[in-house]
Amino acid sequence: MAVPKRRTSKSKRDMRRAHSKLTVPRLVPCPQCHELKPTHRVCLNCGYYKEREALKVNQ
Ligand SMILES: [Zn+2]
Repeated sequence: MAVPKRRTSKSKRDMRRAHSKLTVPRLVPCPQCHELKPTHRVCLNCGYYKEREALKVNQ
């Protein structure tokens, strides 16, 4: 089996890890009820997505 000849340097290791970072959840106000909701998700407060009701919400 192939085995690495050299230990990965701190620089190369950190360069690899530069792409693995936590992202802040993007929250935007719902155009329907102005409650904060994640982008590209049905609003859990009013059940609206793209100007129509996509989900029944118990009010
Ligand atoms: Zn809403």
